[in-house]
Amino acid sequence: RSITALEAEGDERAVEAALRPRSLDEVVGQTRVRDQLGLVLEAARRRGRAPDHVLLSGPPGLGKTTLAMIIAHEMQTPLRLTSGPAITHAGDLAAILSGLNDGDVLFVDEIHRMSRPAEEMLYMAMEDFRVDVVIGKGPGATAIPLEIPPFTLVGATTRAGLLPGPLRDRFGFTAHLEFYEPADLDRIVHRSAGLLDVALTTEGSAEIASRSRGTPRIANRLLRRVRDYAQVRADGVVTHAVAQAALELYEVDELGLDRLDRAVIDALCRRFSGGPVGVSTLAVAVGEERETVEEVAEPFLVRTGFLARTPRGRIATPAAWEHLGLTPPELPSE
Ligand code: ADP
Repeated sequence: RSITALEAEGDERAVEAALRPRSLDEVVGQTRVRDQLGLVLEAARRRGRAPDHVLLSGPPGLGKTTLAMIIAHEMQTPLRLTSGPAITHAGDLAAILSGLNDGDVLFVDEIHRMSRPAEEMLYMAMEDFRVDVVIGKGPGATAIPLEIPPFTLVGATTRAGLLPGPLRDRFGFTAHLEFYEPADLDRIVHRSAGLLDVALTTEGSAEIASRSRGTPRIANRLLRRVRDYAQVRADGVVTHAVAQAALELYEVDELGLDRLDRAVIDALCRRFSGGPVGVSTLAVAVGEERETVEEVAEPFLVRTGFLARTPRGRIATPAAWEHLGLTPPELPSE
Protein backbone atom coordinates (compact mmCIF):
# COMPACT_ATOMS: atom_id res chain seq x y z
CA ARG A 1 0.00 0.00 0.00
CA SER A 2 1.09 3.58 -0.57
CA ILE A 3 2.33 5.78 2.26
CA THR A 4 -0.62 8.09 1.74
CA ALA A 5 -3.00 5.17 2.26
CA LEU A 6 -1.19 4.19 5.44
CA GLU A 7 -1.39 7.76 6.65
CA ALA A 8 -5.11 7.91 5.91
CA GLU A 9 -5.52 4.90 8.19
CA GLY A 10 -3.61 6.76 10.88
CA ASP A 11 -1.10 3.97 11.22
CA GLU A 12 1.90 5.83 12.69
CA ARG A 13 4.14 2.80 12.92
CA ALA A 14 3.43 1.75 9.37
CA VAL A 15 4.21 5.23 8.11
CA GLU A 16 7.44 5.27 10.09
CA ALA A 17 8.35 1.90 8.61
CA ALA A 18 7.62 3.17 5.11
CA LEU A 19 10.01 6.09 5.61
CA ARG A 20 12.85 3.81 6.67
CA PRO A 21 15.89 3.62 4.44
CA ARG A 22 16.15 0.06 3.05
CA SER A 23 19.83 -0.14 2.26
CA LEU A 24 23.05 1.30 3.64
CA ASP A 25 23.25 3.63 0.64
CA GLU A 26 19.95 5.24 1.60
CA VAL A 27 21.05 5.90 5.19
CA VAL A 28 21.68 9.59 5.69
CA GLY A 29 24.56 10.72 7.93
CA GLN A 30 26.29 8.46 10.49
CA THR A 31 28.99 8.02 7.86
CA ARG A 32 31.49 6.34 10.13
CA VAL A 33 29.01 3.76 11.40
CA ARG A 34 27.79 3.20 7.88
CA ASP A 35 31.30 2.64 6.51
CA GLN A 36 32.29 0.35 9.35
CA LEU A 37 29.11 -1.67 9.12
CA GLY A 38 29.40 -1.86 5.34
CA LEU A 39 32.81 -3.45 5.76
CA VAL A 40 31.63 -5.93 8.37
CA LEU A 41 28.80 -7.04 6.06
CA GLU A 42 30.92 -7.23 2.93
CA ALA A 43 33.55 -9.32 4.70
CA ALA A 44 30.88 -11.69 6.00
CA ARG A 45 29.40 -11.99 2.51
CA ARG A 46 32.76 -12.88 1.01
CA ARG A 47 33.37 -15.50 3.65
CA GLY A 48 29.85 -16.82 3.19
CA ARG A 49 29.25 -16.58 6.92
CA ALA A 50 26.82 -14.80 9.20
CA PRO A 51 28.30 -11.44 10.24
CA ASP A 52 29.55 -10.87 13.78
CA HIS A 53 27.04 -9.83 16.40
CA VAL A 54 26.34 -6.10 16.32
CA LEU A 55 25.52 -3.79 19.21
CA LEU A 56 23.90 -0.45 18.42
CA SER A 57 23.55 2.13 21.14
CA GLY A 58 22.18 5.63 21.28
CA PRO A 59 19.08 7.64 22.12
CA PRO A 60 15.67 6.66 20.67
CA GLY A 61 14.87 7.51 17.07
CA LEU A 62 18.42 7.65 15.71
CA GLY A 63 18.17 4.60 13.48
CA LYS A 64 18.97 1.47 15.48
CA THR A 65 15.97 -0.53 14.23
CA THR A 66 16.55 0.81 10.74
CA LEU A 67 20.15 -0.45 10.76
CA ALA A 68 19.09 -3.85 12.06
CA MET A 69 16.64 -4.16 9.18
CA ILE A 70 19.29 -3.06 6.75
CA ILE A 71 21.73 -5.67 8.03
CA ALA A 72 19.17 -8.39 7.34
CA HIS A 73 18.29 -6.86 3.99
CA GLU A 74 21.91 -6.58 2.88
CA MET A 75 22.60 -10.15 3.95
CA GLN A 76 19.38 -11.21 2.24
CA THR A 77 18.20 -13.03 5.33
CA PRO A 78 15.02 -12.76 7.36
CA LEU A 79 14.96 -10.54 10.43
CA ARG A 80 13.42 -11.74 13.66
CA LEU A 81 12.39 -8.99 16.02
CA THR A 82 11.99 -9.08 19.76
CA SER A 83 12.80 -6.88 22.73
CA GLY A 84 14.42 -7.19 26.14
CA PRO A 85 11.24 -6.63 28.13
CA ALA A 86 9.48 -9.36 26.12
CA ILE A 87 12.05 -11.90 27.27
CA THR A 88 11.20 -12.41 30.91
CA HIS A 89 12.27 -16.04 31.19
CA ALA A 90 15.22 -17.90 29.75
CA GLY A 91 12.62 -20.20 28.20
CA ASP A 92 11.27 -17.32 26.09
CA LEU A 93 14.70 -16.82 24.64
CA ALA A 94 15.28 -20.54 24.13
CA ALA A 95 12.06 -20.66 22.11
CA ILE A 96 13.17 -17.77 19.91
CA LEU A 97 16.68 -19.13 19.42
CA SER A 98 15.54 -22.62 18.57
CA GLY A 99 13.28 -21.20 15.87
CA LEU A 100 16.14 -19.49 14.03
CA ASN A 101 17.47 -20.66 10.70
CA ASP A 102 21.05 -20.57 9.50
CA GLY A 103 22.17 -16.97 8.99
CA ASP A 104 19.06 -15.29 10.41
CA VAL A 105 19.40 -11.87 11.97
CA LEU A 106 17.86 -11.64 15.44
CA PHE A 107 17.12 -8.11 16.56
CA VAL A 108 16.72 -7.55 20.29
CA ASP A 109 15.60 -4.01 21.04
CA GLU A 110 16.19 -2.64 24.54
CA ILE A 111 18.55 -5.50 25.15
CA HIS A 112 19.58 -3.99 28.50
CA ARG A 113 16.13 -4.83 29.86
CA MET A 114 16.38 -8.57 29.38
CA SER A 115 16.15 -10.76 32.48
CA ARG A 116 19.40 -12.00 34.02
CA PRO A 117 18.86 -15.74 33.30
CA ALA A 118 18.00 -14.93 29.69
CA GLU A 119 21.11 -12.80 29.45
CA GLU A 120 23.25 -15.68 30.62
CA MET A 121 21.68 -17.98 28.11
CA LEU A 122 22.36 -15.41 25.43
CA TYR A 123 26.13 -15.28 26.18
CA MET A 124 26.42 -18.94 25.42
CA ALA A 125 24.24 -18.75 22.33
CA MET A 126 26.30 -15.87 20.94
CA GLU A 127 29.59 -17.58 21.54
CA ASP A 128 28.97 -21.26 20.95
CA PHE A 129 25.63 -21.30 19.12
CA ARG A 130 24.37 -23.60 21.80
CA VAL A 131 22.19 -23.20 24.87
CA ASP A 132 21.39 -25.38 27.85
CA VAL A 133 17.70 -25.67 28.40
CA VAL A 134 17.04 -26.55 32.03
CA ILE A 135 14.12 -28.85 32.58
CA GLY A 136 12.67 -29.24 36.05
CA LYS A 137 13.69 -27.63 39.33
CA GLY A 138 15.94 -28.38 42.26
CA PRO A 139 18.19 -31.45 42.45
CA GLY A 140 16.23 -33.25 39.76
CA ALA A 141 16.75 -30.50 37.16
CA THR A 142 18.54 -31.51 34.00
CA ALA A 143 20.19 -29.35 31.40
CA ILE A 144 19.51 -30.36 27.83
CA PRO A 145 21.98 -28.90 25.36
CA LEU A 146 20.41 -27.42 22.27
CA GLU A 147 22.32 -26.56 19.10
CA ILE A 148 21.44 -23.29 17.40
CA PRO A 149 22.25 -22.48 13.79
CA PRO A 150 24.79 -19.66 13.33
CA PHE A 151 22.90 -16.38 13.52
CA THR A 152 23.70 -12.71 13.90
CA LEU A 153 22.46 -10.95 16.98
CA VAL A 154 21.78 -7.25 16.59
CA GLY A 155 21.23 -5.69 19.98
CA ALA A 156 19.95 -2.16 20.45
CA THR A 157 20.17 -0.19 23.64
CA THR A 158 19.69 3.37 24.77
CA ARG A 159 22.11 2.62 27.58
CA ALA A 160 25.22 0.69 26.59
CA GLY A 161 26.56 1.38 30.07
CA LEU A 162 23.85 -0.79 31.61
CA LEU A 163 24.89 -3.90 29.72
CA PRO A 164 26.92 -6.34 31.73
CA GLY A 165 30.52 -6.56 30.54
CA PRO A 166 30.34 -10.22 29.47
CA LEU A 167 27.41 -9.45 27.18
CA ARG A 168 29.00 -6.34 25.71
CA ASP A 169 32.24 -8.25 25.05
CA ARG A 170 30.46 -10.80 22.90
CA PHE A 171 29.54 -8.29 20.24
CA GLY A 172 32.11 -8.23 17.45
CA PHE A 173 31.04 -4.79 16.32
CA THR A 174 29.72 -1.98 18.48
CA ALA A 175 28.46 1.31 17.16
CA HIS A 176 27.29 4.32 19.06
CA LEU A 177 24.84 6.48 17.13
CA GLU A 178 25.21 10.19 17.67
CA PHE A 179 22.60 12.91 17.28
CA TYR A 180 22.40 14.11 13.66
CA GLU A 181 23.65 17.45 12.40
CA PRO A 182 21.04 19.84 10.98
CA ALA A 183 22.40 19.30 7.44
CA ASP A 184 21.73 15.55 7.68
CA LEU A 185 18.30 16.10 9.16
CA ASP A 186 17.60 18.48 6.33
CA ARG A 187 18.37 15.71 3.84
CA ILE A 188 16.13 13.34 5.78
CA VAL A 189 13.27 15.87 5.73
CA HIS A 190 13.70 16.32 1.98
CA ARG A 191 13.76 12.59 1.41
CA SER A 192 10.64 12.02 3.51
CA ALA A 193 8.86 14.97 1.92
CA GLY A 194 9.48 13.35 -1.45
CA LEU A 195 8.03 10.03 -0.25
CA LEU A 196 5.05 11.74 1.39
CA ASP A 197 4.50 14.05 -1.54
CA VAL A 198 4.83 17.19 0.56
CA ALA A 199 5.80 20.45 -1.14
CA LEU A 200 8.40 22.27 0.90
CA THR A 201 10.85 25.11 0.44
CA THR A 202 14.53 25.04 1.35
CA GLU A 203 13.89 27.33 4.32
CA GLY A 204 10.87 25.33 5.45
CA SER A 205 12.92 22.15 5.48
CA ALA A 206 15.82 23.82 7.29
CA GLU A 207 13.47 25.08 9.97
CA ILE A 208 12.09 21.60 10.63
CA ALA A 209 15.59 20.12 10.58
CA SER A 210 16.96 22.60 13.10
CA ARG A 211 14.13 21.89 15.52
CA SER A 212 14.25 18.10 15.35
CA ARG A 213 16.41 17.45 18.44
CA GLY A 214 19.06 15.88 16.24
CA THR A 215 16.68 12.93 15.75
CA PRO A 216 15.39 11.53 12.43
CA ARG A 217 12.24 10.10 13.97
CA ILE A 218 11.36 13.55 15.28
CA ALA A 219 12.23 15.18 11.95
CA ASN A 220 9.77 12.86 10.21
CA ARG A 221 7.11 13.44 12.81
CA LEU A 222 7.45 17.22 12.73
CA LEU A 223 7.39 17.20 8.95
CA ARG A 224 4.01 15.53 9.04
CA ARG A 225 2.61 17.88 11.67
CA VAL A 226 3.87 20.89 9.74
CA ARG A 227 2.37 19.45 6.58
CA ASP A 228 -1.02 19.22 8.38
CA TYR A 229 -0.71 22.86 9.30
CA ALA A 230 0.27 23.84 5.77
CA GLN A 231 -2.75 22.06 4.35
CA VAL A 232 -5.26 23.41 6.85
CA ARG A 233 -4.02 26.93 7.50
CA ALA A 234 -2.01 27.74 4.39
CA ASP A 235 -1.86 26.70 0.77
CA GLY A 236 -0.21 23.33 1.39
CA VAL A 237 3.38 24.43 0.88
CA VAL A 238 5.76 24.11 3.83
CA THR A 239 7.50 27.46 3.86
CA HIS A 240 9.66 28.94 6.58
CA ALA A 241 6.76 30.91 8.05
CA VAL A 242 4.45 27.89 7.97
CA ALA A 243 7.07 25.69 9.67
CA GLN A 244 7.69 28.29 12.35
CA ALA A 245 4.02 28.84 13.11
CA ALA A 246 3.27 25.11 13.17
CA LEU A 247 6.20 24.24 15.41
CA GLU A 248 5.22 26.97 17.80
CA LEU A 249 1.76 25.44 17.95
CA TYR A 250 3.26 22.06 18.79
CA GLU A 251 5.45 23.62 21.50
CA VAL A 252 8.75 22.83 19.87
CA ASP A 253 11.10 25.73 20.50
CA GLU A 254 13.81 27.21 18.23
CA LEU A 255 16.40 24.82 19.58
CA GLY A 256 14.11 21.84 19.24
CA LEU A 257 13.41 21.46 22.94
CA ASP A 258 10.03 19.92 23.52
CA ARG A 259 7.82 20.15 26.54
CA LEU A 260 9.66 17.50 28.54
CA ASP A 261 13.09 18.98 27.80
CA ARG A 262 11.92 22.38 28.97
CA ALA A 263 10.19 20.93 32.04
CA VAL A 264 13.47 19.27 33.04
CA ILE A 265 15.62 22.39 32.83
CA ASP A 266 12.82 24.47 34.30
CA ALA A 267 12.57 22.21 37.36
CA LEU A 268 16.35 22.10 37.62
CA CYS A 269 16.67 25.89 37.62
CA ARG A 270 13.55 27.03 39.44
CA ARG A 271 12.94 24.26 41.94
CA PHE A 272 16.43 23.06 42.63
CA SER A 273 18.32 26.33 42.14
CA GLY A 274 20.30 24.82 39.28
CA GLY A 275 21.23 21.61 41.10
CA PRO A 276 23.02 19.41 41.74
CA VAL A 277 20.03 17.13 42.04
CA GLY A 278 19.63 13.39 41.60
CA VAL A 279 17.91 12.19 38.44
CA SER A 280 15.16 10.36 40.37
CA THR A 281 14.21 13.54 42.22
CA LEU A 282 14.24 15.44 38.97
CA ALA A 283 12.00 12.82 37.34
CA VAL A 284 9.46 13.06 40.17
CA ALA A 285 9.46 16.85 39.83
CA VAL A 286 8.51 16.65 36.16
CA GLY A 287 6.13 13.74 36.65
CA GLU A 288 7.99 11.34 34.39
CA GLU A 289 9.66 7.97 34.67
CA ARG A 290 13.30 8.15 35.62
CA GLU A 291 14.22 6.18 32.48
CA THR A 292 12.45 8.67 30.25
CA VAL A 293 14.27 11.60 31.78
CA GLU A 294 17.57 9.77 31.66
CA GLU A 295 17.30 8.19 28.22
CA VAL A 296 15.19 10.65 26.28
CA ALA A 297 15.52 14.16 27.70
CA GLU A 298 18.98 14.16 29.19
CA PRO A 299 21.14 13.10 26.25
CA PHE A 300 19.79 15.95 24.18
CA LEU A 301 20.06 18.50 26.98
CA VAL A 302 23.65 17.44 27.59
CA ARG A 303 24.43 17.73 23.92
CA THR A 304 22.79 21.18 23.75
CA GLY A 305 24.94 22.23 26.66
CA PHE A 306 22.05 22.91 29.05
CA LEU A 307 22.59 20.13 31.51
CA ALA A 308 25.67 18.50 32.96
CA ARG A 309 25.97 15.21 34.78
CA THR A 310 28.22 15.46 37.79
CA PRO A 311 29.02 12.87 40.46
CA ARG A 312 26.77 14.79 42.85
CA GLY A 313 23.83 15.05 40.45
CA ARG A 314 22.52 17.00 37.50
CA ILE A 315 23.27 20.69 37.18
CA ALA A 316 21.90 23.38 34.89
CA THR A 317 24.46 25.36 32.93
CA PRO A 318 24.24 29.16 32.64
CA ALA A 319 22.97 28.64 29.07
CA ALA A 320 19.97 26.73 30.44
CA TRP A 321 19.05 29.61 32.73
CA GLU A 322 19.36 32.02 29.86
CA HIS A 323 17.24 29.83 27.59
CA LEU A 324 14.44 30.09 30.15
CA GLY A 325 14.92 33.84 30.32
CA LEU A 326 16.35 33.64 33.84
CA THR A 327 19.53 35.09 35.28
CA PRO A 328 22.04 32.40 36.18
CA PRO A 329 23.16 32.55 39.80
CA GLU A 330 26.68 33.76 40.60
CA LEU A 331 29.06 30.83 40.41
CA PRO A 332 30.53 30.11 43.80
CA SER A 333 34.30 30.66 43.67
CA GLU A 334 35.92 27.37 44.58
P1 ADP B 1 15.59 3.65 16.84
O1 ADP B 1 15.46 2.16 16.60
O2 ADP B 1 17.00 4.06 17.11
O3 ADP B 1 14.66 4.16 17.90
P2 ADP B 1 14.54 3.87 14.15
O4 ADP B 1 15.48 3.02 13.42
O5 ADP B 1 13.19 3.31 14.45
O6 ADP B 1 15.20 4.41 15.50
O7 ADP B 1 14.38 5.23 13.29
C1 ADP B 1 13.28 6.08 13.45
C2 ADP B 1 12.88 6.68 12.14
O8 ADP B 1 13.88 7.60 11.73
C3 ADP B 1 12.69 5.69 11.00
O9 ADP B 1 11.38 5.76 10.54
C4 ADP B 1 13.61 6.12 9.90
O10 ADP B 1 12.84 6.47 8.78
C5 ADP B 1 14.25 7.39 10.38
N1 ADP B 1 15.71 7.30 10.30
C6 ADP B 1 16.54 6.88 11.27
N2 ADP B 1 17.81 6.97 10.89
C7 ADP B 1 17.80 7.45 9.64
C8 ADP B 1 18.84 7.78 8.69
N3 ADP B 1 20.13 7.62 8.98
N4 ADP B 1 18.47 8.24 7.49
C9 ADP B 1 17.17 8.42 7.19
N5 ADP B 1 16.16 8.14 8.04
C10 ADP B 1 16.46 7.67 9.25
